[in-house]
This record gives sequence, C-alpha cells and structure tokens, in this order.
Amino acid sequence: MPDLHAQRTRTTPRIVVVGSSNTDMVVRVPTLPRPGETVLGGTFFTARGGKGANQAVAAARAGGSVAMIGCLGDDAFGDDTLAALAAEGIAVDAIRRVAGTPSGVALILVDEVGENCIAVASGANALLGDEDGARCAELLAPDGVLLVQLETPLETVVAAARAARRVGARVILNPAPARELPDELLGLVSVLTPNEYEAERLAGIPVSEERRLEHVASALLARGIGAVVVTLGAAGAYVATAEIRETVPGWPVEARDTTGAGDVFNGALAVALAEEMSLPDAVRFANAAAAISVTRDGAQPAAPRRAEILELFAGRNDADAAGRETQPSHSAKHAERDA
Ligand code: ADP
Repeated sequence: MPDLHAQRTRTTPRIVVVGSSNTDMVVRVPTLPRPGETVLGGTFFTARGGKGANQAVAAARAGGSVAMIGCLGDDAFGDDTLAALAAEGIAVDAIRRVAGTPSGVALILVDEVGENCIAVASGANALLGDEDGARCAELLAPDGVLLVQLETPLETVVAAARAARRVGARVILNPAPARELPDELLGLVSVLTPNEYEAERLAGIPVSEERRLEHVASALLARGIGAVVVTLGAAGAYVATAEIRETVPGWPVEARDTTGAGDVFNGALAVALAEEMSLPDAVRFANAAAAISVTRDGAQPAAPRRAEILELFAGRNDADAAGRETQPSHSAKHAERDA
C-alpha cells in the first residue's frame, strides 16, 4: 500500500468532480403542512448540498487534490457556494457562473419525527453542458480520477466520461439519483457505486441477499463496467470485478444522521483510488470515512478530515492483524489476500 501520510506536492488535481451544487433551505416544523395550510413555529437554517459539491468536499477533506466543474447562478447563493468550495481547497476556476439564472436550491421541510418534504429547483445545474463536462480532459492527467453523479444532465456526464477516458483517467460514476443509463456510458465507467436500490434499478433485479448481489453485479459487469461497488449501509459495501467478489464490512458506529453517507463514501473512494490503493482497500477507506460521517449531523459538515479517517482505518487494520493471530476468520483470510 502507498504511504498514506506522504505529502502531495503536485499542482494538477488528481480528482475532478463534474456535478451539482445546491443550497438547502431547511425549515423544521412541528408537522408538515397539507396543501393550502400554513404551519407556524418553525426554525430555519441553510446548508450547502448537491451531490457534486458534497463529494468534492468529502474528497478534499479526505486528502485529495480536487477540482470541480459545475454551474452556478450569479446570485448570493452562488457567491456563497463558490467561496465555501474554495475555502475547502477545491480548485473552482472551472465552475461557470450564468447570468440571470438562479443557483440550485432545495426547499426542505422536516417535521419532529424526521419525515420530510423536498422540492428541488436545479437552476444553473441544469445548464451544465457537454462542453463543461469535456473540460475535465484539460484538468486530468492519466493517473487522475473523474467523479460524476446524475444530478446534472446525462449528456454532460457522458461527455465528461468520454473526455476522461480519452486522457486515460479512471471514471467513478455514482448513479444517484437512480435512472436508466445508456450502455455507452456504462462502458466508460471504471467503478460504478450504486446503493442497493440503485443497483436493483439499474440491473432490473431485486437485491436482498448475497446471491442476489452476485447476480446484480454480474448483470452490471456484463454491460461493460470495470468494477461494481454496491454500498450496503451499515453493512459496508459489496465489491465485484472480473476477479473479486467480496463484501467489505462497514465500521460499527452509532449512527445519528445518514444524510450524505453515500457522498462521503464516493469522495473518499476517489481519493483512495487516486492514491493507487487496491479496490478492496479503497472501499475499506471509504467505509471508514462514511462511518464517521453518519455519527454527525448534515451532509457536507459531517465529512471527516483525513487524519480522522486514517485513525479509524489504522485501528481496524491493527484489530484485523490481532484477529489473525488468534482465529483466522473469513474476513481475516480476505485481509491476508489483500495485503
Ligand atoms: P446511500 O446513503 O447513498 O443510500 P448507503 O446507505 O449504502 O448509501 O451508505 C453509504 C456508505 O455509508 C456505506 O457503504 C457505509 O460505508 C456507510 N454507512 C451508511 N450507514 C452506516 C451506518 N449506520 N454505520 C456505518 N457506516 C454506514
């Protein structure tokens, strides 16, 4: 495994995220209003969101050198988002501002039992075009990683994936929110990272047990994807390639708020793969980052820093080593094989 504590001195980004950014405007209310009803007594806060921005922030905090390609309006939300991404150390030169268009906004109502009601206005995110996506080729080197999701137009995602592959970079596609995808796009994907529901939708097979996961993964691999990583919530993630079939267990933590766990997972996975970790090790690293995030509130604010992830990651490796000495368990056997 490469030296995880090594200083990174390069100036070109290792990871380019092409994707969405939103401002979440949240009102906590005693009960959700019915149509036509007004509910008083709420409290208001804003939070930065959007899968692209969430994943870019998670990758930067996990130690990646990150550039983001996105589209913002010329409003105050856009100013705030740009400043916040830059403050995370993310290169924002390729984020385009569009005059006369609002930045992406999500209006969210949450009641006392956590039930919610959400309306999203994509705004400038919907204007992220093919040419924006293709610009990733100017930013990525052959050892780089493109990280994309599905909250921006599909043609943009395809254009970005094509451009990344042209320079020899790897492509991670987090297929969220779930939708049908063309075979051309899947053929460009190095690592696909659906959750169970998205995997089921894409493969057209229900996922409920290990054998099902194998079938789903096989169906997706047959469509030309290099590797499939199905995230399994607290259970971790299932990794499938032509050579590997393995469930990488999650980290036992007390979950408090799982919002954005998938985004943290993807950001950290991109960092680990850019550092040339093996896929199972990269998934272990991503599981650790996502596990820490679910112990905290919110999406972007919950993304852990590299030192925290490494502390958990190193702890488990030590525990695995100890376990190997006493009882060679199934997972210890995997750990030996991966070492
Ligand atoms: P999504 O949030 O996209 O639906 P998952 O629920 O599968 O995706 O979660 C993504 C990742 O977050 C998991 O693979 C795991 O690493 C981590 N995770 C989610 N929930 C928990 C939990 N309760 N405990 C530990 N890790 C978790």
